[in-house]
Amino acid sequence: MGSGIIIDGNLLRGNKGYASEVGHMTIDPEGEICSCGKRGCYETLIGPRAVIKRVKKLIAEEGRESTILQISDDASEAFNYDTVVDAARKKDKVALAALEDVGCNLGIAVSNLVNIFDPKMVILGGALNYAKDFIQPVVEKVVKANALQLCQEELVITNSLLDQDSSVMGVAGLVLENNLNGSSLQNRSNY
Ligand SMILES: [Zn+2]
Repeated sequence: MGSGIIIDGNLLRGNKGYASEVGHMTIDPEGEICSCGKRGCYETLIGPRAVIKRVKKLIAEEGRESTILQISDDASEAFNYDTVVDAARKKDKVALAALEDVGCNLGIAVSNLVNIFDPKMVILGGALNYAKDFIQPVVEKVVKANALQLCQEELVITNSLLDQDSSVMGVAGLVLENNLNGSSLQNRSNY
């Protein structure tokens, strides 16, 4: 999970250029091993891999019925993230549940960031953009329930205009700017 924090038009870089590694904030010290080697980072709970893992758990461990395995070419576990999102569009309950769960995790992450930075705008992007119709409403709901009221009064949560391969640009961007007018708002949406 990448992220970028933009303050008054400038990307927050930190001392050595590694600022805003939000994906590696520890959420569960006993959790799954992350790509960084630690356990329980946000990254293990958010993103396409988390969606697929959730689907497998719902089907294999909880015995939920789903069309996902029928949709995929191989009836084993050879489905991918796009398969899950496409199934959600056809109202598959397991796919919808998995996307909602991951959307909730992202919503908690965004709520924490909103409380820290009090941003004007949060831009969701990256691979989750393919499922934005499912993810964004959940994120908005969770932020409404969890972020401090004063921090969310003028907050805008939107989606990146970049396609889903833009994950290098960040799954979540925060814009903090004192004088955000209409034109700059549009420019910022291009992140
Ligand atoms: Zn990590």
